[in-house]
Amino acid sequence: HATKKTMADHLRKYESLFTLTPQRMRMIVEAFTETLELGLNKPNQIVPMIPTFVFGWPTGEEKGDFLALDLGGTNLRVCLVTLQGEGKFEITQTKYRLTEDQKQDDGQKLFDFCAECLNTFVETNMGEGEGQLKPGQCLPLGFTFSYPCSQERIDHGELIRWTKGFGAGNTEGRDVAAMFKKSLEKFQLPIQLTALINDTTGTLIASHYVNPRTKIAVIFGTGCNAAYMEHVKDVPKIENLGIDPAAEMAINCEWGAFDSFEHEHLPRTKYDTIVDDTSNKPGEQAFEKLISGRYLGEILRLVLCELIDEGVLFLGQNTYKLERPYIFDTAFLSLMESDPTDELLMVIGIFTHFFALETTLAERQFFRALAKLIGRRAARLSACGIAAIVSKMGYLEEGCSVGADGSLYNKYPGFADRVHEGLQDIFGDKGRNIITHHAEDGSGVGSAIIAAMTKNRK
Ligand code: ADP
Repeated sequence: HATKKTMADHLRKYESLFTLTPQRMRMIVEAFTETLELGLNKPNQIVPMIPTFVFGWPTGEEKGDFLALDLGGTNLRVCLVTLQGEGKFEITQTKYRLTEDQKQDDGQKLFDFCAECLNTFVETNMGEGEGQLKPGQCLPLGFTFSYPCSQERIDHGELIRWTKGFGAGNTEGRDVAAMFKKSLEKFQLPIQLTALINDTTGTLIASHYVNPRTKIAVIFGTGCNAAYMEHVKDVPKIENLGIDPAAEMAINCEWGAFDSFEHEHLPRTKYDTIVDDTSNKPGEQAFEKLISGRYLGEILRLVLCELIDEGVLFLGQNTYKLERPYIFDTAFLSLMESDPTDELLMVIGIFTHFFALETTLAERQFFRALAKLIGRRAARLSACGIAAIVSKMGYLEEGCSVGADGSLYNKYPGFADRVHEGLQDIFGDKGRNIITHHAEDGSGVGSAIIAAMTKNRK
């Protein structure tokens, strides 16, 4: 008769499904590098490699007062950034909450609300006293708008499509910078919109301002994306724009789309296929779906659901709470992995409190090991993306720093170490030359620096 499988036996199966060998990683890097090249060569590729019209690095000596407006997923943030030179800055900020209605209502109204918040911010922070605006003074504003836009110049951007749950009308296909300028005019504010930027580009520039070894920036949040500085001569698709070929320009990769539709290069498990099939955009953002905060919890939940169906877990208990899609937040993986107790009390807490489920120690050890496999795979795949840019740009020998931001990077225990391990698996000892670090506030400080750089160019 068959002996009953232990949790450790089950774990072995998932280990082989979720583990990436160094050899496999190197194959992914090769395909990734080719994909990046393709996006630079031709317009409208799956990984679109969007030119940002941010030219070159900041000197670190940018100075002055700048406003930054960040339209993110949940909040609207207004910042006053004082750049002090020598890579130093000060920042004052206020957050304004957006309602669901505002996200879905008319786009011009949404921008009117942004302008209104700016107005309140300026009145509150710069009305009197030290920060007071001088008569005739006009403040440059950087607008961080992290939705895919195609740009023709720095203060322009046509919204390709809303993402992250936004759906405001009359906005897709239109120049959001122009729409926002119209809203600003209504308030007659002494503010000039100088730059429209993506958060990855902001992160790249802000990280470099304080740490000039930075060559690449990566965001690990709800989504996953990267930006880096490219030689204009190596972007054939913009040859006709007449930009000095010797110049450099930041590229917003939108790399979350790597391997979308074709699904040729990435090792996807059946849980990844379910995540994709049941998503609102099947086929799209294939790389992001294996890596970002929005999906890691769901992948783990799908494995647990399979084991529930097989009669392995939670026998005799009602598991309905765990059966709701996206109910298992990626923050739970972080918590499980950081549980310091032998009994895994944190894991007990998560399952009893949120899902009304009792667990055995063997099950808890299994859950934690599973979180580790999924988190580690995400970090190692990210390392492949970073390695592709590093190889393409020839940064391995002299080394470089990678500015990283987002809850997954900032809060998931060991995430950065696993990215570094991955880079060493890909490149050998030289992989140590590539180091990630927590980036400065890209959408605030980065936006201000870009506004300053733009002002200087004009
Ligand atoms: P955004 O990308 O929306 O600007 P964040 O960088 O905060 O914002 O990322 C949000 C994502 O991070 C969510 O998908 C969430 O599940 C995940 N997340 C939040 N807290 C943690 C945590 N402690 N560990 C890992 N992931 C987390």
